[in-house]
Amino acid sequence: MDAQTDIRTLRHFIGGDWCAAGGGETLDVLNPLDDSLYARAARGSGDDMRRAIAAARAAFPAYRDTTPSARERMLLRVAEIMEARKQELLDCLVDEIGSPVQKAMFEFTKGLTMVRAAAGLCRNVRGETLPSDAPGKFSMSIREPLGVVAVITPFNVPLIKTTRLVANALAVGNTVVHLPSEMAPHLSLIFAEIVAEAGFPAGSYNVVTGYGHEIGDDLTGDPDVNFVTFTGSSVIGQHINEICARNKTPNTLELGGKSPTVILADADLDKVMPLAARSIFMFAGQACIGSSRFYVERPLYDTFVARFAAIAANLGMGDLRDPDTVIAPIISERQRQRVKDHIADALAKGATLVTGGAWQGNRCQPTLLTDVTEDMTLCKSETFGPVTAIYPIDSYEEGLQKANDTEYGLSSAIFTGNIDRAFHFARNINAGMCHVNGPTIHDEAHVPFGGNGESGVGREGTDADMEAMTELKWVTVQL
Ligand code: NAD
Repeated sequence: MDAQTDIRTLRHFIGGDWCAAGGGETLDVLNPLDDSLYARAARGSGDDMRRAIAAARAAFPAYRDTTPSARERMLLRVAEIMEARKQELLDCLVDEIGSPVQKAMFEFTKGLTMVRAAAGLCRNVRGETLPSDAPGKFSMSIREPLGVVAVITPFNVPLIKTTRLVANALAVGNTVVHLPSEMAPHLSLIFAEIVAEAGFPAGSYNVVTGYGHEIGDDLTGDPDVNFVTFTGSSVIGQHINEICARNKTPNTLELGGKSPTVILADADLDKVMPLAARSIFMFAGQACIGSSRFYVERPLYDTFVARFAAIAANLGMGDLRDPDTVIAPIISERQRQRVKDHIADALAKGATLVTGGAWQGNRCQPTLLTDVTEDMTLCKSETFGPVTAIYPIDSYEEGLQKANDTEYGLSSAIFTGNIDRAFHFARNINAGMCHVNGPTIHDEAHVPFGGNGESGVGREGTDADMEAMTELKWVTVQL
């Protein structure tokens, strides 16, 4: 804290030390609810990033040789300390990124699970024995950690992404350099304190704060970085993919989405409605797996629209610490403008506003649109706000075809009692994830989470990260 202004000053965590940016520069972190100053964070430079990479590189040889039980113990200790510091983590999620406490609790609970699941991963870094055609040769594959893993996380679910990716990377024996979103640095720095307190050695986990467009390339393009895991927008994902290709640095990219929900005429709307609302309005639509397209078979269409509108109009927009509040502020002025532009463009081109569209401060009312056509930006582009379009369909086949009419391929959902159609959809939807009779928003620590096309490359989750963040080596012994 700055004693005079009561404003937090956030520093990098490099090689076990807390340090200001080399040039002493800072960036302002604003509370999105009212744009008040939440913190001043170190505005990292290329030199800061290189120091962090060097610290992670130096820590790697000793860290990779820690025993699975030592890593497991430290990760379980991380979970214990997280529980002890729960209120602090929740407060940070509320005040730094504007999470309603309901969503902050969801993140906290998931985050704990991510860390505990990672602890279980430590003993599962396994190769196999292989038959050999050479007489007397014993043949096997072993898995080895890659080295320095770059973790780049977005603003919207900073605790889930930080816990999962950092914990999985550390669990399999890598060291980490983390660039958190410039809009959510504090959360990751609290996590760094927790990781250090849990006994992880200096340099095993490093956090450099700053603007990704200023220092991101210094991280992803550094030849001493052995793996990049990026979660964020598709445009930046593409840029990172190109940099990684130049250095042949393996990477996973978890990017944006335009996830569809198909509702067939035999669906039970009493069950569908609360899940539909959760699919798009949780954290005001600032969720990569939020459902921004609903395709509803005609017999249910009018009822669905009316019931969805009634729910949307009554979602809590009060105090973020009130457990009934659902609607969050939109994170930044740039992002607010994007949401406004998408709604205005749709209305100008003939969409019908069913409900919402107005703003209270930095919060956009839950917004439903019908009569959305392909020339409207929000039809195909990610809005990342509490806005969704509802389309009537005349058949299941039309629903599947429209759901697949996108460059994205992240999550998807279908509501139906028809098992054949449900499975047909699951097999034929071009998406990394499909939920039958459940919302597009769902995640667990051990599942293969990720998307296709513009939504990314690779999967994350304990098994997927273990495979991605280690390398197989073939070893033979001539007996
Ligand atoms: P963003 O792309 O603006 O930023 C994400 C991160 O990238 C930040 O840490 C930023 O500092 C960093 N960055 C910026 N330029 C960089 C560069 N040149 N090199 C390296 N890093 C750089 O995204 P955001 O606004 O924070 O998050 C919203 C986006 O993230 C949405 O598109 C959303 O769909 C996506 N997202 C995807 C998932 C998923 O699992 N698929 C999860 C959450 C969010």
